[in-house]
Amino acid sequence: METENVFEIESPRVAFVTMGCAKNEVDTQRMQSQLTRCGFAIEQDPEAADAVVVNTCSFIQSATEESLEAIFEVAGMPNVTAGAALIVAGCMPARYGQDLESELSEASAFVPCSKEDDIVQVIAQALGIDQARLERMKAAMLGAVPEGAVAINGSRAVSAYVKISDGCDRFCSYCTIPYIRGRYHSFDYETVRADVADRVSEGVKEIVLIAQDTGRWGQDFEDESSLAWLVGTLADEFADTWFRVMYIQPEGITDELLHTAAEHDNICSYFDIPLQHVQPSILKAMHRKGSREEYESLVERIRRIVPEVTLRTTLIAGFPGETEEDFDELCDFVEEGFFDYIGVFAYSREEGTRAYDLPDQVDDDEKAYRAQRLRDLADDVCTPLVAARVGKAMNVLIEGREEDGQLFGRAMCQAPEVDGVTYVDNGEPGNIVQVTITDTLLYEMEGE
Ligand code: SF4
Repeated sequence: METENVFEIESPRVAFVTMGCAKNEVDTQRMQSQLTRCGFAIEQDPEAADAVVVNTCSFIQSATEESLEAIFEVAGMPNVTAGAALIVAGCMPARYGQDLESELSEASAFVPCSKEDDIVQVIAQALGIDQARLERMKAAMLGAVPEGAVAINGSRAVSAYVKISDGCDRFCSYCTIPYIRGRYHSFDYETVRADVADRVSEGVKEIVLIAQDTGRWGQDFEDESSLAWLVGTLADEFADTWFRVMYIQPEGITDELLHTAAEHDNICSYFDIPLQHVQPSILKAMHRKGSREEYESLVERIRRIVPEVTLRTTLIAGFPGETEEDFDELCDFVEEGFFDYIGVFAYSREEGTRAYDLPDQVDDDEKAYRAQRLRDLADDVCTPLVAARVGKAMNVLIEGREEDGQLFGRAMCQAPEVDGVTYVDNGEPGNIVQVTITDTLLYEMEGE
C-alpha cells in the first residue's frame, strides 16, 4: 500500500468506525485520546481520513458479519483505495488472529484488544511516520490536550461510559468474551477516577460504569475492594454527577452495593442484572449458577433495600437442551413482572465455545420463534410498568433535541441506548430538570 505522500500534511487525520457495544466505544475513545495527545487529528468522516480504524465486534457470528461488512465498505472508500491506511482493531483480530490476517489483505495492520495501547505506533508505522517526527508531533501537543480528553470536532456529550475492568473469568459456555478479552482485570481506582474527572470536566453529567462483569470490580486487587466502595467514593466526590452501573452479574448484587445506592441520591436506583435463564439445568449447561427461586429472592432483597429500584435483565432463548417446558418456565418468570426492561437474544452457536458441542441444539427457526415470543411477552409485561409512572415526579437529564427541535433526555430509570427516552418541554441539553410524567408510549415517556 502506498503511504509515503500522505505524511506531508501537518496532523494526520484518523477516523474510527466502531462496531458493537458500549465497551467498544470506550476502547475507541481511549485510542482516540492517545492519538490526540500524540498530535493526530480525529476525523469524523472516514472518507476524509489518512487512516481509518475499524474497531470490530465478534462476540457473536452476526456481529462478526457486520464488522466484515464495515471493513469492506471502508476498504472501498476512495481515500483508502488511494493509499489511506485501513486498521482492523478490537475483537475480530483477538478472536481470529492469524486466520484473519491471511484473509484480509485490504488491511494495513491488525490491533487485537490486548494491543490497543500500541495504536499510536501502529498508525505511525502504517502511515510511514518515523520516530523523530512522532516525537515532534507529541512535543507540539504538550499541555494542549488534557489527559484522557477526547476532542471529536467539538462534540459534547452529557452522558459518558467509563470502563472499570476488562476481560472475564466466568467462562459461560456460550460466550466468546473470555477468549477475546482475556482474564478479568480491574482497572485501578486512580485510572477510573481520572477518567471520571476528565469526563466531568468536559461537562458530562452522567457516568455509566461498564465492564463485562462490573460486580467483580476490586476483587482481584491485593487489597481487595468492591464495586460498592468504588461507586460510593465516586458519588461522594462528584456529587452533582449521576452514576449508573451496568452489567452486574447476580452474585455482584451485594447488600453493601444496595445500601450504597440507597444512600446516594446521585447513584441511579437502577440495576442491570443479566440472568440469561431461570431453569437450573439450563443455567448449569450455561456454566452459570442460580434458579428461579434464587432470582425471585434476589429481586425481593433488592426491592427491600432500594424500594424505588428499576431493574433490567437479559435472557437467552433456545439454548441447547432447552425443552418446551424449560421455555415455558422462562415465559412464566417474565410474566411475573419482576423486571422493568428485558433484553432477549436467540442463542447464537459460536465456534470455540463449549456450548457449540452440546447435544440437542435447538433448530434456528425455533430459536428465532422463541426469542420473538419472549420479546412480545416482555413488551406486554414491561410497557404497563412504564405506563404506571404517569403522575410521578422525576429528574430528567436533558440530552439533546430531535430534528424537529423536541427536547429529550432520560430519567434515572432509563439507561442510555436501551430503555427509551423522556420528552420534555423546557431546558437545555446538560440541564437536569424535574418533571411530572404525563404520558407514555411503549417505552418512551413524556414529562412536563
Ligand atoms: S459473564 Fe459470561 S456472558 Fe458475560 S462476558 Fe463473562 S463469560 Fe461472557
